[in-house]
Amino acid sequence: MLIAFTVILFGCTSKNDSEVIADIYKTASSDTSIYHTLRVLSKSYPYRLCGTPNSIKAIEYLKGVMEKENFDKVYLQECTVAHWDRGAKEVGIIKSSKLGETKLSVCALGTSVGTSIDGINAEVIEVMSFEELEKLGEKAIKGKIVFFNKPMDASKTNTFEAYGEVVKFRVTGASFAAKYGAKAIIIRSITTSIDTFPHTGVMRYKDTPKEIPAFAVATKHADILSKQLAEDSKLTLYLKSDCKFLPDEISYNVIGAVEGTTFPKEIITVGGHVDAWDIAEGAHDDGGGCVQSIGVWHNLYSIGYRPKHTLRVVMFIDEEMNQRGGKKYAEEAKLKNENHIFALESDGGCDKPLGFSFETDSVNFAKFKPFQNLFEPYGANLFMNGGSGVDVGFLKQENTVLAELIADPTHYFDFHHSGNDTFEHVNKDLLNQGSATLASLIYLVDKYGLK
Ligand SMILES: [Zn+2]
Repeated sequence: MLIAFTVILFGCTSKNDSEVIADIYKTASSDTSIYHTLRVLSKSYPYRLCGTPNSIKAIEYLKGVMEKENFDKVYLQECTVAHWDRGAKEVGIIKSSKLGETKLSVCALGTSVGTSIDGINAEVIEVMSFEELEKLGEKAIKGKIVFFNKPMDASKTNTFEAYGEVVKFRVTGASFAAKYGAKAIIIRSITTSIDTFPHTGVMRYKDTPKEIPAFAVATKHADILSKQLAEDSKLTLYLKSDCKFLPDEISYNVIGAVEGTTFPKEIITVGGHVDAWDIAEGAHDDGGGCVQSIGVWHNLYSIGYRPKHTLRVVMFIDEEMNQRGGKKYAEEAKLKNENHIFALESDGGCDKPLGFSFETDSVNFAKFKPFQNLFEPYGANLFMNGGSGVDVGFLKQENTVLAELIADPTHYFDFHHSGNDTFEHVNKDLLNQGSATLASLIYLVDKYGLK
């Protein structure tokens, strides 16, 4: 520790901010460690939904990795999580007297109830909106499977905006359809990619007369179902799923801490979430965000920088289902009266970093403006005030500035929550650039503070 401290004083006092940031990007560009960690996390501990044995193995693995990264301490923060189990592979088959049988690539939506052991076989009613469903009413819907086939809008370059328009079908579609007596729902997977990967994601039962099973179908097969319905409106769809909740489990956030040299009681946090959906390797979502966060300290340590404020690198558990890890972290921070000045998350995939989204008032946002030009040489100078990460969001209070790394979102939803989210889709150089971008902002916040 003493050696690192000496290097800082020696190394950084003579350099201006753009030179220090250039050092960070240069160091990150030759790093192979976080890419390697992501490979092991994705390939050895995929399907690490909270509550599963794989999630615990992933937590242990990341703790071990962090213990070799020169933190002052690495520790676990315990929390209780739900354990939803998908069970046997889901089945989806179109049965048409005119067109025969067609197998579909389907998956249950996260937290859905399963069908009975015999499955459900029912006619299908295709809709594009809740309004359409409402108009059709109970008479048309009772006893049927509601098929929400609204495509994600490919004309929107901000894919998160396009996602936001259709995610309501996934989250509340089952509760909405159950009011009219639907037996189950199936949604078109939320992606603009036309392929055979079904995309899962959390759904919620809310104000519903009955908890009905909820599925997603791959986009290519959503098109087939729609086409066949146009030819045979009486066809039936057979759906079977085996998912259920098991008892809650104990789980953990993993935290690596470096005590601040000048303001040890003022905390800067950076993190990602360790859990991933149980059909995905979780490379983009969010193994990449985890290893980039570890890379923040790896990079700063490598250039001999010792933070003035306490730095915490956090691997949050359970972002995907109930966010109990993020909530636990914030609860404990409040209980201990901790002062978080800045909390940053990386959970938007690991493509080209473009900048940051902040969640703060205009006075605090203005403090970041002078930093913006420093990111221009790296194409990461998009600074907007309009939202942050889900996990760090629980730290929201008057004086904590929240933020999230913005990565190029063009392809993010090709992978999101599906079997297509694999390590092979992550580019090493862009992953490292993301880590350098996070580290550079943290360096600036640490150096200048936010007072
Ligand atoms: Zn995520």
